[in-house]
Amino acid sequence: MLQKVDIHLTDHCNLNCKGCTHFSPLAEKFFLDIDDFERDLTRLSELSKGDVGEMFLLGGEPLLHPEIVDFFPIARNLFPNTKLVVITNGILLPQQDERFWKACKRYNIQLWVSDYTLNIDYKSAEAKAREHGVFLGYTSVAKDEQNRKLWTKYKLDLEGKQYWVNSFRRCAIKNCATLKKGKLYTCCTLAHIEHFNKYFGTNLEISEFDYVDIYKADSWESVLNAMVKPVPFCRYCKPGEFERCFWEPSKKEISEWS
Ligand code: SF4
Ligand code: SF4
Repeated sequence: MLQKVDIHLTDHCNLNCKGCTHFSPLAEKFFLDIDDFERDLTRLSELSKGDVGEMFLLGGEPLLHPEIVDFFPIARNLFPNTKLVVITNGILLPQQDERFWKACKRYNIQLWVSDYTLNIDYKSAEAKAREHGVFLGYTSVAKDEQNRKLWTKYKLDLEGKQYWVNSFRRCAIKNCATLKKGKLYTCCTLAHIEHFNKYFGTNLEISEFDYVDIYKADSWESVLNAMVKPVPFCRYCKPGEFERCFWEPSKKEISEWS
């Protein structure tokens, strides 16, 4: 089984977190087209026969997508037994309308809020979720106030000189499959590096060996095998050099990621 697949509904965000592992502070405005979403999910459903444990709809900030509610029935119909989760920073939750809350309930969509212990109205969102019988949880696993504010800065090797197998072995975010434009990547770094490259004018290169094209894959087994193996792009990652620091806004400097 594929334990989890991530899909960006937007690439941009209404928060600006230092070292964001999805490169959202660097991304231009992007809203996923609903027809592209349906096409890719239909193919994924055919290939996997629904053998996907969890599907995370995220970004960026997914609640910025004006049609977010229309994505829910498509995902639920094609993946009736998959846990469907919207990952959000929560800023826009209190202002969601009845249609949103009813759709979450109807299509069994869970809400997971990334709690950065910022001045965000989590209580109103919790009340709305309770009122509509929608599950709302938090992605923070830290135990105390101080630790909740800790942020993990991700480190890249811009020259790609790491031994890719070692990088993969030590990587904490491997096997977080990401589906984007018909391709399945092992992690969010690979899938969204285009924003980093474009913003800083770098060329951290993605080759055809770094992803699986779901339209060309001949079996689900071959996809599953690819998702648990290192890829050449891992040479750009220094998983041993994750840096823990207090949350702060991104200044969009390359040193935040390298
Ligand atoms: S809220 Fe999440 S997606 Fe948005 S900038 Fe922060 S870490 Fe990135
Ligand atoms: S490219 Fe490889 S090492 Fe880097 S984050 Fe992805 S899986 Fe981990």
